[in-house]
Amino acid sequence: ARLALPGIRELQPYQAGKPIEEVERELGIKNIVKLASNENPLGVSQKVRDALAAKITGLARYPDANGFYLKQAIADKFSVKPQQVTLGNGSNDVLELLARTFVTAENEVIYAQHAFVVYPLVTKAIGATGIAVPAKDYGHDLEAMLAAVTDKTRMIFVANPNNPTGTFLSKEALEAFIARVPHHVLIVLDEAYYEYVPESERAPSLAWIEKYPNLVVSRTFSKAYGLAGIRSGYMVSHPAIADLMNRIRQPFNMNELALTASIAALQDEDFIARSVSVNRDGMAQLIAFCEQYKLPFIPSHGNFLTIEVGPQSAEMFQKLLHKGVIVRPVAGYELPNHLRVSIGLPQENDAFCNAMAEILNGQ
Ligand code: PMP
Repeated sequence: ARLALPGIRELQPYQAGKPIEEVERELGIKNIVKLASNENPLGVSQKVRDALAAKITGLARYPDANGFYLKQAIADKFSVKPQQVTLGNGSNDVLELLARTFVTAENEVIYAQHAFVVYPLVTKAIGATGIAVPAKDYGHDLEAMLAAVTDKTRMIFVANPNNPTGTFLSKEALEAFIARVPHHVLIVLDEAYYEYVPESERAPSLAWIEKYPNLVVSRTFSKAYGLAGIRSGYMVSHPAIADLMNRIRQPFNMNELALTASIAALQDEDFIARSVSVNRDGMAQLIAFCEQYKLPFIPSHGNFLTIEVGPQSAEMFQKLLHKGVIVRPVAGYELPNHLRVSIGLPQENDAFCNAMAEILNGQ
């Protein structure tokens, strides 16, 4: 252990949402509802299933190493050039690739308190210094993040919406910030939950790249597209940044099924619209419950709601588990009084609300 970089010794392994099978095995209960990993409750769209089924017989061959068709599909849909796109095994993979390409152990990387845990992870893995800037109203304090920039700063992570808080920055606030970030710093705008933001509120982030070449934007197929299990994400950047990342990328970091499923998912507008609408209704359902029980929550722009349950949150998590509902503790995000609940189908949200109501009533 003494051989490890000091930053790595500080890290804890990534804590994923508890898998359904594990809870079934450990507690011997069935019909588990998992609202713990911000997954899409609609499952996999029929168009994706059909595309995947047609691909199985081709799996003996290596995938297209350059992801030609998926890059083209992303470029067509979002009006960018294929040379701006970097593909990865989930957007976590492209975030790590970016850090490995641009950050050295001498550098500093800025992110917000309560920000997604992969930012400190990819920073410390290369021995760089992570600067966690205290949050403002659970979200990014952009002024304080700017003030934290030094000559050593190489990257600033901004998640919009943020996970696990669901906080959101307006396009005006975001652009004013981006315009003031010095050119030696890359701004990593993580838009994993982009599709859940109403169109009128979305930032024209990909179009900004032309004006701000130090801006990179990451997105994922894990949420609104319903493909968390396949691992697929991408980054859009200036072509020169994508070119550098491509030089150190693992060959075949995107598998053939992921390429195929992502293309089909990208084009399945009906499914995305349904995902967004199920999320909107489910969010209203959870908010109504919180209001009824006077539970404070952080207003969320994502597919999850982070609810303040008080200092007994760990106990509450266990009680929910025993009632067959898996949610996500967020104490590791310096939110010891909160639990994060992903938005599910109406009956799954009901299961959470009923279990929670029983616990609050002392049962
Ligand atoms: N960014 C944020 C803010 C997230 O919440 C997540 C998923 N938890 C990711 C990135 C990574 O998603 P994936 O690797 O599945 O694309």
